[in-house]
Amino acid sequence: MLAPAVPGQRTLGAMGSPLAAWVDRALSLTPARAAAFGLRELAALLLPTSCALCQAPDHRLCPRCARQLVAQLHLPPLGPALRCRLELPQHQELFLVCAAGLYANELAQAILAFKNRQRVFLAAQFAPYLAAAAAALSPPCVPGEQVWLVPVPSSPAARTRRGYWPVQRILCRAQADGLIPARLSCRPILRHRFSLRPAGAQKGKSRSQRRSSGGALYAFDAARPGQQVLLVDDVVTTGATLIAAANACRAAGYRVIGAVALALTPPPSTETR
Ligand SMILES: [Zn+2]
Repeated sequence: MLAPAVPGQRTLGAMGSPLAAWVDRALSLTPARAAAFGLRELAALLLPTSCALCQAPDHRLCPRCARQLVAQLHLPPLGPALRCRLELPQHQELFLVCAAGLYANELAQAILAFKNRQRVFLAAQFAPYLAAAAAALSPPCVPGEQVWLVPVPSSPAARTRRGYWPVQRILCRAQADGLIPARLSCRPILRHRFSLRPAGAQKGKSRSQRRSSGGALYAFDAARPGQQVLLVDDVVTTGATLIAAANACRAAGYRVIGAVALALTPPPSTETR
């Protein structure tokens, strides 16, 4: 923070030069703040940065965008606008999906920056909300049993392009920050199917792959049939990806108890700003 100007004192900044204003500012700070200011300036010089959302210089996330982002993310209990139910028609089952926010405004920008512009530091912003939603949707287990948090995988092409798996990255951050309760366990058991064999060739496929051979996703076989899983995704739009993930888990012997996401696409009639 700048020290108050002394009335009548002529400052270098008053001469109008940006360099003079910079010197003015540096000279007006306490030693500790001057050191922090110097480090920030040095970092900005060596590693120029800009806000992930509005591109304002010198901040990875500027204070205004940070405030907007926090205002658009929610902790449980999550209201009806942040919930929906998806159907698995062939099993005549419904499962509940809860999201921490609506996919609009700064939250949508932040998710896109995180997924498509390498702003991986945003995982720390998202982790508390995704972890809280997951904890709220997972009933307490009997001692010794866990609910598995299963991230929905990015497509192989997207993963190659980004170099990381966004949802898995958020879960890892939540785990590292101690936000995942002990009754939950992160298990990336879903994969995209990748085969050079002609469709229909069954030799060499696992039991679960053969069972769910109609879909693009498969899950590793459940060691314990009926293991409870909670799917985790970044954005839910039509729900088709979550349904494919749920079908793959079910085919491999798991029980899908629901899904959580960072954001849900608002219905067309919803006013988001
Ligand atoms: Zn900003």
